[in-house]
Amino acid sequence: MQKTFLIATHNEKKKNELLRILSPLGIDVKTDKELNITLTEAEETGETFYENALIKAQSGCNESGLPCVADDSGLMVDYLAGAPGVYSARFAGEHGDDEKNNEKLLKLLNNVPEDERTARFVSVVCLVFPNGDIISARGECEGKIGYEAVGTGGFGYDPLFMVDGKSFAEMSGEEKDKLSHRGKALKLLLEKLNDYMAIK
Ligand code: IMP
Repeated sequence: MQKTFLIATHNEKKKNELLRILSPLGIDVKTDKELNITLTEAEETGETFYENALIKAQSGCNESGLPCVADDSGLMVDYLAGAPGVYSARFAGEHGDDEKNNEKLLKLLNNVPEDERTARFVSVVCLVFPNGDIISARGECEGKIGYEAVGTGGFGYDPLFMVDGKSFAEMSGEEKDKLSHRGKALKLLLEKLNDYMAIK
């Protein structure tokens, strides 16, 4: 089996999380830059995390000829009927403006009591092989939206996402991996990949 996998993401911090979790696999995981190719930014036109993860992984695999792993993730807030969901990166308009996204979320939850601030991060990871095989896994992490940004680590909504009184932005990478949606999805993906490799 091909021993180099491509990771399709331009989010540095997300890439580092994926690398940290996938590296024990004994498979070389590389970004497009490291492989001296430039991936087209695949349009996330799906209505679900799975559809968007598959779009990104399929496009990366087609363009590189390598097995390609991609994740699509986001925050679902119960008080907002599951928003921002697949629109998490562009919640406040501009793609990836974490500060504005967090500001908007705090505003929408202004005066909402703690027990109604429940939310979950969701991640779906897809691995697509050049022969068309697909392995996917989903992970979720339950938490609550805080009243103000806390901590300096992580990215995105991390400073507002509280688990057991601590925000994701206050945790070390390893601590977050153990709890996080992406950590759980990748762990499951590894298990499925091991089974897949055993029969190949
Ligand atoms: P994606 O790159 O389309 O998957 O966008 C995911 C968006 O969801 C990011 O831009 C963040 O706003 C948010 N998000 C996903 N995972 C996390 C996380 O682990 N911490 C904080 N925000 C996250």
